[in-house]
Amino acid sequence: MDGSMTKMAASSGWEVKSPSREYTTLAPAVRQEIDGFLAEHPVKLGAIAERLGVKVLLSTLPRGTSGQIAQEDGEFVIRINRHEAKHRQRFTLAHELAHYLLHRERIVAEGGWSENVLLRAPNQPIQIEYEANRLASDLVIPSHLLAQATADYTGPMTSEVIEDLARRFGVSTAAMEIKLQMV
Ligand SMILES: [Zn+2]
Repeated sequence: MDGSMTKMAASSGWEVKSPSREYTTLAPAVRQEIDGFLAEHPVKLGAIAERLGVKVLLSTLPRGTSGQIAQEDGEFVIRINRHEAKHRQRFTLAHELAHYLLHRERIVAEGGWSENVLLRAPNQPIQIEYEANRLASDLVIPSHLLAQATADYTGPMTSEVIEDLARRFGVSTAAMEIKLQMV
């Protein structure tokens, strides 16, 4: 991954979205911490959190709240709504880890925040949510891994193939379609 904007070619002419600017501009030391975890799918997000020193809790959160991130007693803590579907919890965790990697100072300054089901924190600029979603997508579906995985299929990209890829990466079909440049 060299950070260029070139699309990664996949089998059968499919196109895999290139890694985001948010990912390619992470500090080299940070990339060193996380890249090892991005070499196999489904990506072990809990292990990434542990490596970064971020505590992750499955919690009963208010209805309509998918996740929370805050600094508590000097430690960053992510809470994930235990009542939501597994692939949704995974994307929420990736989104919060992305906030940790990109917006740590803001999290501290704002005293943390809660995210609604659209993964938006009501009082924060929408731009930081777009940034977090782009990096989250690279964490749950690393571009080079998806390009490799698509080589296992021949023929057209059917909905069955997309569902299979989504299952292998532990994501929703919507998240997979975004990464496959279909939307
Ligand atoms: Zn967010």
